Amino acid sequence: MHRIAPTPSGYLHVGNAANFAANALLAEGGSLLLRIDDLDRQRFRREYLEDVFDVLHWLGIEWTHGPKDAEDFERHWSQDHRMPMYKTALDQLLTCAPTQIFACPCSRKELAEGEHVHGCLRGHIAFDRAGVAWRVDTRGTALHQTMAWFAVRKKDGRPSYQLACTVDDFHYGITECARGEDLRDSTAAQAMLSDLLGYPPLRERIRFVHHPLMCVNGQKLSKSQGAAAVRDSGLTPAAFFSEARAWLRAADDA
Ligand SMILES: [Zn+2]
Repeated sequence: MHRIAPTPSGYLHVGNAANFAANALLAEGGSLLLRIDDLDRQRFRREYLEDVFDVLHWLGIEWTHGPKDAEDFERHWSQDHRMPMYKTALDQLLTCAPTQIFACPCSRKELAEGEHVHGCLRGHIAFDRAGVAWRVDTRGTALHQTMAWFAVRKKDGRPSYQLACTVDDFHYGITECARGEDLRDSTAAQAMLSDLLGYPPLRERIRFVHHPLMCVNGQKLSKSQGAAAVRDSGLTPAAFFSEARAWLRAADDA
């Protein structure tokens, strides 16, 4: 099973469209899930959700699993429907990895200063206390440099992106995934979570292709071009597929 997993927290940009093309190419002749990651309901807007379907139709991408439209998404496929599954996974983490998960009320500023001043790492904070995040003790791993203490549950009690993505990829039996190279650390965090949850090793289950940022005619798009809405970019669907093909060829050669 392959997946396209956009987040409806803004209009899609050209980088998203090329990533969709890459995953559609990987899935050719097989199963493709449209998984819209709407954990962040604060930034969610209906028009962003509609935009996902519009862009997929414009690119000519057909998916075999997932919502057929915005209505179907809200009714059956929103991540809100999978909250019980995420809750089970969080409980499982406390059972299976009690020494590696800790509750933490630290502010962003306190974390930036590097010390858990509330005794979080010594287990001084109860997991059921209001307003605490649940974090992973990353000491001793390479992730500690880039994603120290990444969260599995946010302070509002909702699962983090890393937790939900790891659980969803396992739940849906994802086998291959193209994602931007900016998500390499996320892949490493999810591999760690997968182990803590007792799932089979992530990298044995899923082949990740980390691709560069979108280039057109060999030129990297500037940040403003990169953020241009897909259909205002002046690019054709074929241009996105040609970029995606180049990424996949480079990944095969690597
Ligand atoms: Zn802390």
